Amino acid sequence: MRAGVRPDETAGGVVPINASKVTRWDQHGREHVVTVQRSGVQRTISCDTCGWRQSTQFLPWLKAQEHLAEAHQATVDPSEAQTSR
Ligand SMILES: [Zn+2]
Repeated sequence: MRAGVRPDETAGGVVPINASKVTRWDQHGREHVVTVQRSGVQRTISCDTCGWRQSTQFLPWLKAQEHLAEAHQATVDPSEAQTSR
């Protein structure tokens, strides 16, 4: 992934505290969203598409991206797709 300046989404590394969801598109252009909710030290991540949920303390955005890629083949970052055209 390119090193961009968009603060709303990152693949690991520094994640802003207000990042609350991960959006990816699949090959058909469908949007899949995984929401990240904070509750104390835990993060609960839930997929809007299939209802998948998981709790984690670390790297919720990374797990969200993994789920989107594995379950929905959604690997296209909309922010990158827009800037590349
Ligand atoms: Zn899902």
